[in-house]
Amino acid sequence: MTTPRICIVGGGVLGAAVAYHLCEAGCTNIVIVERTGIACGASGRAGGFLAKNWSDSKSVGQLSTASFLLHEKVAEKLRQEYNIDVMYRRVTTLNISLKEKTTTTPQRKSDTLPKWVTGDVFKEEILGTEATTAQVHPGLLTNGLVRVVESKGGRVLIGKANGFLFETITTHTEKDHHHQTAPVQASKLLLENQDPVEADIFILTLGPWTYQAATWFKDSVSFKPNISRQLDCIQGLKAHSIVFKGNQPTEPYAFFLNYVTSANGIIDPEIYPRPNGDIYVCGFGEQTTQNLPDDANHVSINETSCDKLKEIAIHVSSTLKDANVEVRQACYLPISPDGIPLIGKLYGLENVYIATGHSCWGILNSLETGHQLAQLIINGQVSPILNTCDPARFSKGS
Ligand SMILES: Cc1cc2nc3c(=O)[nH]c(=O)nc-3n(C[C@H](O)[C@H](O)[C@H](O)COP(=O)(O)OP(=O)(O)OC[C@H]3O[C@@H](n4cnc5c(N)ncnc54)[C@H](O)[C@@H]3O)c2cc1C
Repeated sequence: MTTPRICIVGGGVLGAAVAYHLCEAGCTNIVIVERTGIACGASGRAGGFLAKNWSDSKSVGQLSTASFLLHEKVAEKLRQEYNIDVMYRRVTTLNISLKEKTTTTPQRKSDTLPKWVTGDVFKEEILGTEATTAQVHPGLLTNGLVRVVESKGGRVLIGKANGFLFETITTHTEKDHHHQTAPVQASKLLLENQDPVEADIFILTLGPWTYQAATWFKDSVSFKPNISRQLDCIQGLKAHSIVFKGNQPTEPYAFFLNYVTSANGIIDPEIYPRPNGDIYVCGFGEQTTQNLPDDANHVSINETSCDKLKEIAIHVSSTLKDANVEVRQACYLPISPDGIPLIGKLYGLENVYIATGHSCWGILNSLETGHQLAQLIINGQVSPILNTCDPARFSKGS
């Protein structure tokens, strides 16, 4: 049986998850076109925190719950069938409040806190239990999914996509013997300094770079503005993170902080101890922008932000004082205007799909997004989740 030729543009967690689910559904003729490297952007630099029911929106809530449950199943499958460990585990999630400058002598902490937390926590709250929160290593997950796709015949092509070639689908109806020109479809993905990629179906998973694809449709005759608006609405939001490497306690906890600065401001970084003894710390979101460097490895790093993350983490646990910070990094996450991801067929084209705008929940929601999109592409199945996330809501302009 011949399966459709599928071209996925963007090798982050969304591209990997869509490829994985298409593969699971029997589509093996897949090429992932990635500009820099698999998981080079947010998908390799995120925390990997997963929550079952933290979303306010009903449909996005369904997406998150389904995805949360899928993470466990996929992690198990990758481990058992492919010997791939993505460091998945359930965690207890705490909100802890500390002050930059404490005036009182540190009190004995409450029993809710693990011993690893040595800082003077003046308030704590349980945000999630092992029934509702978990973590995964995002880079290992993204690379693991791609390895599965490759093992079934799919391939990764390193190259910069920069346009499409189009064709109109010409139909011939019984009623009217004239040829009817129906909607436009993409036939080839153009690459910088490389041969184009021909495919039957194209899926854009460009994360925060999605806006750059708005110009790729300039040759697609009458539909251009409507198509472009669905891409041009995506912005990037930069955030920093650091990773302490080494033998830290591996208790299954995740920490959301309220850190009261000396000037009485509040900073809210997150700390995720990982099962391998690493401690991941992130925070300091900046203004959204459409001015991103092409290469994810060239995102500028604000050393002051990284230093502050380090200082706060050491304040939470003094055992970090002698630990090595081996990773200091920044990356952009993709933001949509209404905070809801764009998942589905691009309005105005027959065979181009998109999955982006997952904001700070892209790792969590990747797996069910991939599952939903694969069902849409293969069976034409539209769920309430896909109705809510339909990219066409942005095709008409503001
Ligand atoms: C600090 C931080 C912490 C986070 N923590 C969490 C968390 O704990 N839990 C959670 O669920 N989410 C988290 N997120 C969010 C999550 O990381 C993102 O939502 C997710 O990674 C987005 O994935 P993506 O595949 O859409 O985009 P990306 O990972 O950005 O992938 C897009 C890919 O497209 C490629 N590309 C772009 N343009 C082209 C082109 N022209 N040609 C070819 N390839 C191209 C890029 O090189 C890139 O590899 C966090 C994000 C940040 C920044």
